[in-house]
Amino acid sequence: MTAANCVTCGDSVALPEDVEVGEIVDCGSCGTELEVLGVDPAELAEAPELAEDWGE
Ligand SMILES: [Zn+2]
Repeated sequence: MTAANCVTCGDSVALPEDVEVGEIVDCGSCGTELEVLGVDPAELAEAPELAEDWGE
């Protein structure tokens, strides 16, 4: 089991063993959506809001 700290509340967020970079996981404590930036070591960042501006 891999875990990383939520960037918003600092709580530990468990990651699936097969988690992949770019996946979005939810913090179980504060509900923030977190993007997986790295898996070894595990690193999380607050997921960007879904952009509606995808260009032309
Ligand atoms: Zn959190």
